[in-house]
Amino acid sequence: MATQTPHIIIHPSPGMGHLIPLIEFSKRLVHHHSFTITFIIPTDGSSITLQKSMLDSLPTSIDYVFLPPVDFTDLPEGTKMETLVCLTMLRSLPSFKNTMASLVSTKKLVALVVDLFGTDVFDFAKDFNVSPYIYFPSTAMLLSLFLYLPELDRTVSCEYRDLPEPVRIPGCIPVNGKDLLDPAQDRKNDAYKLVLQHAKRYRLADGIIVNSFMDMERGAIKALLDRTEPDKPPVYPVGPLVNMGDGSGSDSDCLKWLDDQPDGSVLFVSFGSGGTLSSNQLNELARGLELSEQRFLWVLRSPNDKAASANYFTVQSQNNPFDFLPKGFLERTKGRGLVVPSWAPQARVLSHRSTGGFLAHCGWNSTLESVVNGVPLIAWPLYAEQKMNAVMLTEDINVALRPKPDENGLISGDEIAKTVKGLMKGEEGKIVRRRMKDLKEASATALSENGYSTIALSKAATKWIEKTRS
Ligand code: UDP
Repeated sequence: MATQTPHIIIHPSPGMGHLIPLIEFSKRLVHHHSFTITFIIPTDGSSITLQKSMLDSLPTSIDYVFLPPVDFTDLPEGTKMETLVCLTMLRSLPSFKNTMASLVSTKKLVALVVDLFGTDVFDFAKDFNVSPYIYFPSTAMLLSLFLYLPELDRTVSCEYRDLPEPVRIPGCIPVNGKDLLDPAQDRKNDAYKLVLQHAKRYRLADGIIVNSFMDMERGAIKALLDRTEPDKPPVYPVGPLVNMGDGSGSDSDCLKWLDDQPDGSVLFVSFGSGGTLSSNQLNELARGLELSEQRFLWVLRSPNDKAASANYFTVQSQNNPFDFLPKGFLERTKGRGLVVPSWAPQARVLSHRSTGGFLAHCGWNSTLESVVNGVPLIAWPLYAEQKMNAVMLTEDINVALRPKPDENGLISGDEIAKTVKGLMKGEEGKIVRRRMKDLKEASATALSENGYSTIALSKAATKWIEKTRS
């Protein structure tokens, strides 16, 4: 017979940027509410060592199952990252269903939580009488766009990037079509069609949990909470739920190096779990960091001239990234700069007293990790929804500076040096630093015992607990 402890299935889509926020969400659920949880994780054959080590460190009430790898050998080279993510989910449906069925026979399942590209399994939720929920690991702005996308798709006939006027996403600062998320840049591509298909299914969810908070995205969250459209699911803003870096990486060289640097003096440079630069751009970044004369800690990945998301599924560089640095760079910056290959304990770095700025790709987890530590940003968006995030961070809430690319899209070393100095030493840096400090305090309030985000999570949890009694 099934036990009565309410059990939740969490089904992330591939990518560390999806798994990490769902892990944080699950930790909060088991700490504050008595649930047990099983992660059911699709795979594509890439290494899962890092994911496993994160999951193994969780409390025993959180279990996990990796599904058998899906096969991509039939897909053409250059298939977009979002298509690969969505197809991983689709091709895992049979194994997901089997795993879910076996849990149904032993647990009191109350909710099936998927992330942004996981709505394909909603049909099983219905079959097994479990509530379907979405945990949206990005901005309220992007969620507002997803809920609005079916209408935008119906009413706009051209490419969004060719629209003469910015797109008005409900509750948000207007965004130029060319800054919308990558898959929306080519409406004929499968990636757009798959994203649109998911967006249409969002209204089937019993609720949507979003990793953001009122003081950061007031307009978008208010629009999401508005329930005048009858089929719009209730939205729960529970953020910022981020990895605080407890434990892991304490023996790492970069933390030891940070220990020896003055307070607030180091710029952390990293492009998330999968971001890569072209070789030209990598050269210019090195030149800019050198010219800026500021201290820096750079997580370096081998360049890729084809795709900015080249390492999305693998994290590690394929070649030795140090081979791609300008000649003599490491010697010339020795003492004030440290370069580490591929991966750093980012949460620990951002909470270190020596870190005073973050040059980031504007991935949402990285952004929130910066916010909770009060570290101001240099916005350097690469792919996915990162350009929208950069617009919000610079033009709406003013917690980031943004270097300007030239007409070929390249950000020059001079521009980089100017922006880095501006953040670390200039008046413009002082303004964004002050604003980020206010936001840090607001984020702590949102997550405090009676804070807005804590209450929102309790509301969702209460609904699931009530389901145990039904
Ligand atoms: N991360 C890390 N070390 C790295 C790069 C990334 O710990 O060297 C973590 C980072 O702290 C964040 C996540 O990986 O929690 C990246 O998520 P984000 O949404 O910022 O970007 P994505 O990787 O999805 O592009």
